[in-house]
Amino acid sequence: MHMCVYCIDPDGKLANHPEHIYSFSSTGDIILVFPNGDRFEMPDMVLHYVFDHQWLPPQEFIVDVLTFEAESVETERFQTKGLVVSKPIDMKIGYLQGEFPTGNVTEEFKVRLVKIIEKAAADYPWMVAPKKKEKSNGMA
Ligand SMILES: [Zn+2]
Repeated sequence: MHMCVYCIDPDGKLANHPEHIYSFSSTGDIILVFPNGDRFEMPDMVLHYVFDHQWLPPQEFIVDVLTFEAESVETERFQTKGLVVSKPIDMKIGYLQGEFPTGNVTEEFKVRLVKIIEKAAADYPWMVAPKKKEKSNGMA
């Protein structure tokens, strides 16, 4: 289990971010294969980075997400400490550390990315990270 380093205070405690939508933990990586052959490997908490930290993915990835329907995107996934996938990876994205590019992505991109990640999660039922956090209303 990998925790988002941007959600941890300098003293090591989890920062309280009630405004965040997606889970800040990752259980592994996912590979998205687009019909044009582009393959992107990323942590399975990319939705957290995009929605909650305004991470701006590489332009190539944004274009592919906007170009291809979720149904046409193939997914591969492996546990971080499990199987090793030996196929070549075109691009590793979303392994954020230190400063990372931020910016606004379009609502269309967000909707499409969610669909693709949800398809991946359906393909791989043990993939839990992208789920939305449960609201904790009323907690002090
Ligand atoms: Zn975070």
